[in-house]
Amino acid sequence: MLLDSDTQLNQQSYYEASVVRPPLQPPLQGALNTDVLVVGAGYAGLSAAIELARRGYQVVVLEADQVCSGASGRNGGQAIAGFACGQGLFEQQLGKTLARQAWDMSMQSIDLIDERIREFDIACDRVKGYMYVADSARKARALEADCMAMQRDYGFAHEFVTGAQVQDYIQSPRYCAAAFETSSGHLHPLKFGLGLAQAAKSLGVQIFEHSAVTLLERGAVLSAQTAQGQVRAKFVVLAGNCTLPEYGPRVAPELTPRVMPVGTYMISTAPLSADLCRQLIPSNAAACDNNFVLDYFRFSADHRMLFGGRVSYSTRTPMNLKAVMAKRMEMIFPQLKGVQIEHVWGGFVDISMNRAPDFGRLGDNMIYLQGFSGHGVALTGLAGQLAAQVVAGQAEQFDVFAKLQHHHFPGGALLRTPSLVLGMLYHRLKDVL
Ligand SMILES: Cc1cc2nc3c(=O)[nH]c(=O)nc-3n(C[C@H](O)[C@H](O)[C@H](O)COP(=O)(O)OP(=O)(O)OC[C@H]3O[C@@H](n4cnc5c(N)ncnc54)[C@H](O)[C@@H]3O)c2cc1C
Repeated sequence: MLLDSDTQLNQQSYYEASVVRPPLQPPLQGALNTDVLVVGAGYAGLSAAIELARRGYQVVVLEADQVCSGASGRNGGQAIAGFACGQGLFEQQLGKTLARQAWDMSMQSIDLIDERIREFDIACDRVKGYMYVADSARKARALEADCMAMQRDYGFAHEFVTGAQVQDYIQSPRYCAAAFETSSGHLHPLKFGLGLAQAAKSLGVQIFEHSAVTLLERGAVLSAQTAQGQVRAKFVVLAGNCTLPEYGPRVAPELTPRVMPVGTYMISTAPLSADLCRQLIPSNAAACDNNFVLDYFRFSADHRMLFGGRVSYSTRTPMNLKAVMAKRMEMIFPQLKGVQIEHVWGGFVDISMNRAPDFGRLGDNMIYLQGFSGHGVALTGLAGQLAAQVVAGQAEQFDVFAKLQHHHFPGGALLRTPSLVLGMLYHRLKDVL
């Protein structure tokens, strides 16, 4: 069910329509031995592969579908500083010192994107600039309080504006406050991901597409099975996101209840005039509101509005998606009323119960990276780097995250979706109050 809707959702993506993929990496056939097997060729897996190869390890990446055909090739492209759970959860669970370390690492993850773009010459339409926007007086107060806390506790500054001044940042009748900063920003996610894959290959990493891991035997040497092949490895990095249990239900079943696949959707307009784009968002920043169920949007390099939002907690694609999304976009930008919508797509975000990243170990030689909770564009790069450090015997930074307490979604495999739907309905109600 999840895989069916997931595959359908990638068919009309603007990103797939705007790149030429390199020829397919052939599926794995026969047996291979390697130092590290990475499961999943999204950003997290590719980042781990790059860092491991740099350290001299032999690396094989097995991808069930195609490179970055999952969330990494379809997302809003918003590379955001910080975590979906905010700093509060780190402070409560780990104390101020480790919370500070986590924040610094999130800033490193933004720098890492730029370093890789420079080092591997990845043309991916990178732009700096980000703004949170608020659509009610209550949300504006919450946004201001967040900005003040980030400035006071972490030295992270925003330009915070309210009232008429908001129009200087975003020409929309919907928002009464905006907080702008220049560390976060945006990029073309699929161009970036394909660039990472090319970088990994240039460092000697072997990537096999259409090679789902269906079985993983644990032990001092791990053995992964695909339809036509087998990989034996000393270490495994699991970076399969929400589809891992779908392709390989027996690979790591203990990870399944720790994250929940939540559908999120995007549309792209036909190209607009450059003048109109400059008028609507003069800084060309990416934007996101501070609702629980959020709208996020930005312009592409070819001047399309890429607008995301609307969620599904049941894994079913919502009805009339294109019309519903277009209406939402027009509420924010009436100037775009009637503009042609050329692409509609979506995918699944791996949210953890507390929305904090969920990185950890299974035994001595398996590492898993999940729970990016909608903040994976930047954090996945860091996650892969930390996984490579663990393989090399340096776990200090990784363990800041591994120390976080996570809970299973209540209700088990059958009931967790209805429980989540109820929980989210409550939060959506709060959004409109
Ligand atoms: C529509 C949408 C919008 C988003 N917008 C943003 C945004 O603006 N900013 C942001 O920070 N985050 C955003 N996200 C989230 C972000 O895209 C993810 O957090 C990030 O891409 C996760 O990367 P990943 O490598 O963990 O997973 P993925 O990119 O999903 O990669 C996992 C890969 O593993 C493969 N796989 C799974 N099981 C197996 C198996 N058994 N064997 C082999 N391979 C397997 C899958 O096929 C997949 O290719 C968005 C997500 C979506 C869907």
